[in-house]
Amino acid sequence: MIGKTTAQWIHLDVMDGLFVPNISFGPKFIEDIRPLSSLVFDTHLMVDRPERFIVEFAKAGSDIITVHAEASVHLHRTLGAIHDEGKQAGVSLVPSTPVSSIEMVLDEVELVLVMSVDPGFGGQKFIANSMDKIRQLDELRKRHNLDFRISVDGGVNANNANRLVEAGVDVLVMGSAFFNADDKKSFVARIQGLEA
Ligand code: ZN
Repeated sequence: MIGKTTAQWIHLDVMDGLFVPNISFGPKFIEDIRPLSSLVFDTHLMVDRPERFIVEFAKAGSDIITVHAEASVHLHRTLGAIHDEGKQAGVSLVPSTPVSSIEMVLDEVELVLVMSVDPGFGGQKFIANSMDKIRQLDELRKRHNLDFRISVDGGVNANNANRLVEAGVDVLVMGSAFFNADDKKSFVARIQGLEA
């Protein structure tokens, strides 16, 4: 039992054992925990051809559905399918994929999720070039007057949170840093203090 913190979103990492070398959970799990929380459900599909499952994850209670640019060939259509379900659409990049690969869809997403580790497992170290990608995204957002949020996922902790926010991050996804904190409530408050 974690107890109440002031965290605003719950980030749900869905892994299919194909796009990433690990399996986590599917829409049934999200449906089961949905009644337990009124926080934003931020569903991150680390799934090959995620277009096959958009309706299920929407119906399960996701508020935001993020797909990987590397996993969906017809990305424009996939993002449209998320909007058709009345959900916010996100696009994510693994560390080796450049920002340029999603430039054509930046006006069609509410969220860009920068993966700062190779996805699949928790507890990995932050890959430094992610900082440059965040700055590039922030620059594109300003230049084209777009309003997507920038989120970062992987190796985020109390030591790099400040720099990430300065580079343009709006949403900090934390796994190990949060779960390993003894006092989760004050940990979250401290991170939110950095953001202010
Ligand atoms: Zn994630």
